[in-house]
Amino acid sequence: MNDYLLLIDADDTLWESALFFERTEHDFLCLMTALGAAEEEVRRTVHRKDIERLAITGYGARPYMDTLRMIMLDLAPGPPSWALTAMDDIQKNLLDHPVILFPGVISTLEGIKNLPVKTAVYTMGEKDHQTDKFERSGLNTYVDEFIIVPIKNVNALTDVLVDADVEPSNCIIVGNSPRSDINPALSVGAIAVHVVRDRTWAAEREDFIDPGSVVTIESFNELTGILDNFLKNDNSYIKND
Ligand SMILES: [Mg+2]
Repeated sequence: MNDYLLLIDADDTLWESALFFERTEHDFLCLMTALGAAEEEVRRTVHRKDIERLAITGYGARPYMDTLRMIMLDLAPGPPSWALTAMDDIQKNLLDHPVILFPGVISTLEGIKNLPVKTAVYTMGEKDHQTDKFERSGLNTYVDEFIIVPIKNVNALTDVLVDADVEPSNCIIVGNSPRSDINPALSVGAIAVHVVRDRTWAAEREDFIDPGSVVTIESFNELTGILDNFLKNDNSYIKND
């Protein structure tokens, strides 16, 4: 049995994700402009509806595409068949986007394998799409478990900790999202490690509920030193400012 649990976010922590949503948005703006819509109006509508839809449709690539389709029918009613085909292709590009791991991911996970820590990739969204990306990432040989929940929040995290039979103070959560990774971790009393990424989706931005307790890293390979210190019960990795 492992006393320690390491939960690692997937999208924009282990591999690129927001990049491909940005490309999808770009392709959609192109298509809508070709259909005679005003680019800025489409962009503003996409950003607004993207946030509004979350409570209704949940997270994921298909719900995002459903939102784009709805916007197309609103702003360019009766689209020609070529535009519908283009939308299918835009969706295919998003769902089948290449899985590109961030620098240091493999070497860091390889090192962590030797530590007495159970490691799980912890992600949210559509089960089949997330599973497909995980399989294509090749990370299944580096981690012990793959956990998908519809939405990452305090309740979901509490369930994961109960299932794993691990005390929150023995759990480390690594992720790029203040809202889905860091604040739930802080709420339950786990160790929160924030990976700073250039791209983080607007809906994932949020103030930290306890900024002084967040460990910030710029690169994934800094995780090894943090884990070493944590396992030695050296709390100096936690900032006090
Ligand atoms: Mg993420």
